[in-house]
Amino acid sequence: MSTLEIKGLRAGIAGKEILKGIDLTIKSGEVHALMGPNGAGKSTLSGVVMGKPGYVISAGSVTLDGEDVLAMETWERAAAGLHLIMQYPTEVPGVMLDDVLAEALASRGRPSEQLDELLHDEAARIGFEERFLDRPLNVDLSGGEKKRNETLQMAVLAPKIAILDELDSGLDIDALRDCARRVEAMSNESTAGQEPLGVLAITHYSRLLHELRPDQVHILAQGRIVETGGPDLATTLETDGYSAFAGTDDDSTSSSSSLDDLFSL
Ligand code: ADP
Ligand code: MG
Repeated sequence: MSTLEIKGLRAGIAGKEILKGIDLTIKSGEVHALMGPNGAGKSTLSGVVMGKPGYVISAGSVTLDGEDVLAMETWERAAAGLHLIMQYPTEVPGVMLDDVLAEALASRGRPSEQLDELLHDEAARIGFEERFLDRPLNVDLSGGEKKRNETLQMAVLAPKIAILDELDSGLDIDALRDCARRVEAMSNESTAGQEPLGVLAITHYSRLLHELRPDQVHILAQGRIVETGGPDLATTLETDGYSAFAGTDDDSTSSSSSLDDLFSL
């Protein structure tokens, strides 16, 4: 059983705090959805956990199975079992997909003799065209093909905990279903001898969560988790918007305490 534990995390860029005390624990096999308006800090959280340069961490901790993640280089975080699917996957001209994965497996002490077979199996499963397997990483792929490609890489690497930053953005309905189903399967079954995948799925839309079924849904607003609930929370958000949560405290008639205000900035 692996555990990613985020405690009291405060972080931002020089001169601006973006995350204002995040507590979140994700274990093997669990799917957590993180929802919230643009600018809430969702991508910042994924970047800080994965070690994207440029962020200042002012308080709190991030650990993976007790190891201090924030003290690791980004590649060490990946080798330790953390994986990020970025909101906007990067094109890397001249670097071939299979070479990247062979190196990544080697750095994890895992064999790569079966890599070709594995790539073809995963490509078929995810609906990623085989002719793209011999291309430089993500180069000239459509938005949907990039996300399928990222999902395929994750399935081959079999990380412990994955953060999906808007996996659904740029995906058509078929690609969304294929990618979400693959992640859902990874969260239910062990891959490459690992525990089932633990997932933090950042999304705006509950349709991703029809295939990738969350155990918990969290709402992030202005750098804080303001609500946590079960899968119903995503459905409520889609039908009622964030205002549904405005009337929960006694002071809700005062506009300053309304959650709506949090989302309007
Ligand atoms: P979300 O993913 O929830 O839409 P982000 O984490 O991307 O939000 O951004 C949160 C806020 O922090 C936004 O106001 C954004 O403009 C700002 N921000 C994030 N990263 C940077 C950065 N590197 N430089 C300047 N502003 C940033
Ligand atoms: Mg974002």
